[in-house]
Amino acid sequence: MARMILVVEDEIELARVLRDYLEDSGFRVETAYDGSTAISRFHHSHPDLVLLDLNLPGMDGLDVARELRRARDIPIIMVTARVDETDRLVGLGLGADDYVTKPFSPKEVVARVQAVLRRAYGEPLQPEILRAADIEIDLMQHQVNVGGKRVELTPMEFEILAALARYPGRAFRRMELLEIAQGEAYEGYERTIDAHVKNLRAKIESDPKSPRYIQTVYGIGYRFGEA
Ligand code: CA
Repeated sequence: MARMILVVEDEIELARVLRDYLEDSGFRVETAYDGSTAISRFHHSHPDLVLLDLNLPGMDGLDVARELRRARDIPIIMVTARVDETDRLVGLGLGADDYVTKPFSPKEVVARVQAVLRRAYGEPLQPEILRAADIEIDLMQHQVNVGGKRVELTPMEFEILAALARYPGRAFRRMELLEIAQGEAYEGYERTIDAHVKNLRAKIESDPKSPRYIQTVYGIGYRFGEA
């Protein structure tokens, strides 16, 4: 079972980006936009790690951390807005497992999450592999095999494929895919997805003209098919 990460962040857009990156890396994710919601999510969904923003409306991150730690010894990565805040927290001896300062790259955060989980649970992360017909997508290693042969994808192609393959049959809008694949999307650029999909098909489909995996959903975008 994939590890569950609770993301506590009141900047909704940022929470969404973190969620997307973590999910693409094989984690399950719950989000909460304020402290009291975070605590109730914590009790309901039993996360393995909490990524906790310090500056929250109402109950701040420190109070949330204390409350969570009273319940159990959950690994916490504290997110601060400034380096001197981190220094202050370390001084308080809160015992967070790691600290991340904004602005950060979501990839960096994912790496920290993986490292803290390894330390906390003392086990290698289980590779999470999606399989359909003769394609294998390793979400941890970012590797794709088709018919047992390694296929080299660009990071963008990989993100698009992984996003689609997580939810076989679900139609994704181009805009949605762009956002998942690069963390942001601008109106008017959604067609750039088509070029990536074309390249992706050339690499993974035996007949790119009649694609088996990356299917076009007319008027919407794309979906992953297993047919
Ligand atoms: Ca905040």
